[in-house]
Amino acid sequence: MDDVIRIAGIVEESFVDGPGIRFVVFAQGCKHSCEGCHNPHTHDFNGGMLVSTDDMIEKMKKNPLLDGITLSGGEPFEQAKGFGMMALKAKQKGYHVMTYSGYLFEDIIDRSKKDQDWKRLLLNTDVLVDGKFEEDKKDLLLKFRGSKNQRLIDVGESIDSGSLVILD
Ligand code: SF4
Repeated sequence: MDDVIRIAGIVEESFVDGPGIRFVVFAQGCKHSCEGCHNPHTHDFNGGMLVSTDDMIEKMKKNPLLDGITLSGGEPFEQAKGFGMMALKAKQKGYHVMTYSGYLFEDIIDRSKKDQDWKRLLLNTDVLVDGKFEEDKKDLLLKFRGSKNQRLIDVGESIDSGSLVILD
């Protein structure tokens, strides 16, 4: 179903998962198996719980201070249909959307050429944090990401300009 996502949980108000004050949705299900992953409970594709994207938007609307939504994981792109709709609905309400993925931006672009769900999730993401967590590149001082290989990518600018626009 387009409007249902399987999630590990939510944080209704976060100051550390992207710019401003954010509503964070943790996708349930991930097959990247990053060594040192901080969220192993999010890996099981049958775990967590099912929620509707409309319910998430209703919860967000109750907090006028929110700047955006962060889609984290788990791996949101494994549920690109539902999370794409989540991102789209958040954009339609004027929220900034940040998405974390263990996949690389270039691979997401490739997949998006033949998969409308991946495309919807990508195109409704303002900032993508891409790549697997790599323990040997871990750095606690990095903004909004765990390891140095991960990039904060301005999705719209990168697509418009045809070259990677990395923030921060
Ligand atoms: S992508 Fe994220 S949730 Fe998945 S294994 Fe890597 S760090 Fe863990």
